[in-house]
Amino acid sequence: MGRVVVNTERCKGCSYCVLSCAKNVLYIDFNRRNSGGYPVAASAPGKQCSGCALCAEVCPDVALAVFR
Ligand code: SF4
Ligand code: SF4
Repeated sequence: MGRVVVNTERCKGCSYCVLSCAKNVLYIDFNRRNSGGYPVAASAPGKQCSGCALCAEVCPDVALAVFR
């Protein structure tokens, strides 16, 4: 079990993390906007993070923190 925290100021919405997540926990939040675009959001409804941290590893902007 894990939990992801998104730094929405750093995230530019490139979706690398979304594509990396086998659990489909992450999604682009089109209801929110920052200077880089639409930041990613964690905790898609009904999805459970495993805490694998792959999303944080692929993020080029170091915008994700994973807690286990
Ligand atoms: S830690 Fe793993 S399971 Fe959790 S959101 Fe990131 S890639 Fe998905
Ligand atoms: S990989 Fe990083 S910058 Fe790209 S959408 Fe995910 S959190 Fe945002």
